[in-house]
Amino acid sequence: MSEYQIEIVVIAAGPAGLAAAVAAAEKGAKVAVPEKRAIPGGLANAGMGILAVESHFQKEMGIDLTVEKACRMMMEYSHYNIDGRLVRRYFGQSADTIEWLEKMGVEFEGAFRYFSKSEPTWHIVKTGRKIGPAAAKVMNEKLAARAEELGVSIYYECVGKKVLKDGRGRISGVLATDRIGRNFVIDCSAVIIACGGASGNPEMIREETGYRYGEDLFNFSSPAITGDGLRMAWDAGADRLPVRIEQAALCGGLDSLPSSVPNVMMQPNLLVNLSGKRVMDEEQMENTTFLGNAASLQERRLLYSVVDTSIAEYYAEHGVDRTSLVRNDPDVSGFAAAVDAALERGNRSVFRADSLEELAAMTGIDAEEFEATVKRYNEYCGNGCDDEFFKAKELLRPVVKAPFYAATIFPGGYGTVGGIRINENCEVLHEFRPIPGLYAAGSDACNLYNDSYMFLLPGNSMGFAVNSGRIAGTEAAKFVASGR
Ligand SMILES: Cc1cc2nc3c(=O)[nH]c(=O)nc-3n(C[C@H](O)[C@H](O)[C@H](O)COP(=O)(O)OP(=O)(O)OC[C@H]3O[C@@H](n4cnc5c(N)ncnc54)[C@H](O)[C@@H]3O)c2cc1C
Repeated sequence: MSEYQIEIVVIAAGPAGLAAAVAAAEKGAKVAVPEKRAIPGGLANAGMGILAVESHFQKEMGIDLTVEKACRMMMEYSHYNIDGRLVRRYFGQSADTIEWLEKMGVEFEGAFRYFSKSEPTWHIVKTGRKIGPAAAKVMNEKLAARAEELGVSIYYECVGKKVLKDGRGRISGVLATDRIGRNFVIDCSAVIIACGGASGNPEMIREETGYRYGEDLFNFSSPAITGDGLRMAWDAGADRLPVRIEQAALCGGLDSLPSSVPNVMMQPNLLVNLSGKRVMDEEQMENTTFLGNAASLQERRLLYSVVDTSIAEYYAEHGVDRTSLVRNDPDVSGFAAAVDAALERGNRSVFRADSLEELAAMTGIDAEEFEATVKRYNEYCGNGCDDEFFKAKELLRPVVKAPFYAATIFPGGYGTVGGIRINENCEVLHEFRPIPGLYAAGSDACNLYNDSYMFLLPGNSMGFAVNSGRIAGTEAAKFVASGR
């Protein structure tokens, strides 16, 4: 039945799979990569950059973040509920990975913070354009080119279906389907699974996390990323760990509107739940993991961001309170007109009202409590002291001038993470022991955040994808070399 003789099959060409393929081929292994889509890069093509600690960029900037400090931060953030050996190997290798990528022609803009309280670990890929979304596509293209230069066969529009074992239980191949639906087997003695989680599979998200995609969760996804890697690994005997959402939050339904609308509505102003109550220090909104978590605790898992006309006018004159490298266009001109146009087109995520009572009626917020909250909040703004959540004085802007605006904030996510238990060599574990020849990397095996994505060290997710791929490729190459 077999048509292809290879040593290592890496299932999928996202950043984890590509890094695995390059690392294995550099060590002399014969590698093939079936990839479901027609292009490499997976969901990471939408992203910007990877985590590294103690990189030459950070040293040039005089940043004192050490591997030791980053490991401690990660372990404490997750309450030691994660694999410390894997964290240590990942962070310890991360600076070298930057140089490894640079040798392939990947350039970086430098090391950046995602938001003010995060560390500058986010190494954003240089594209020749303004810093912004989708920069990492360039890195993925360079990784794919390097893999092909090393003789790796990437089979696009081919779907990995099953990890095969021989009669003695050893890894023997991968069953795949080509672009015309024909089954074929690639013989091999090691497999690296890197299919990116289950972001595009609503049923699996519901089963694994309880969220209802499109109802109380609006995560980024790709229709190609459907949990295949998780199922293949579990079928092959992998220990099953929780699949989590890599939390973020978003102003649902606003992304199709002129940027002035999300630019105003995602500023750290008043946030209330359906009971009309505040739930957090809104300054923390810029950590979208925290905002997503706060939203998911509420009735119907939503929050409303509320601003008034005086806040919109202030931003138009002075600029917004917070900008980010992702939302790097701080333009707020034409905000009111853009909201009017959206409402005329039937947008149901943004609201405008001439009174707080009317705004409450439109959104379903408890009117009495909401008005009391706004009154109290305006007092905090007046005396510069937020007795409830201790928000910084300079961010306290009163809600006083009609029209008033609200926008819905939902839990979101960059996809799913976790599900396959691995060790620090990215070997897949069955009852805590490695399954010889089976490895996993990237989102499928990213059990590193406990219940919340670690955004204080940004680039952590794609950083794990590239570094775990590199580890898996290196280890799988050693494994096949030992059996040659
Ligand atoms: C908008 C956005 C921005 C982001 N920005 C960042 C950022 O700047 N920094 C950061 O750290 N993280 C970022 N992330 C997260 C980052 O994209 C992920 O960490 C990364 O994509 C994970 O890499 P991966 O290789 O595991 O999976 P993916 O990139 O998701 O790739 C998985 C691949 O598997 C393929 N596949 C699936 N099933 C099969 C199958 N059965 N057979 C063959 N192929 C299959 C898919 O087609 C895909 O190509 C961002 C995510 C989003 C959505």
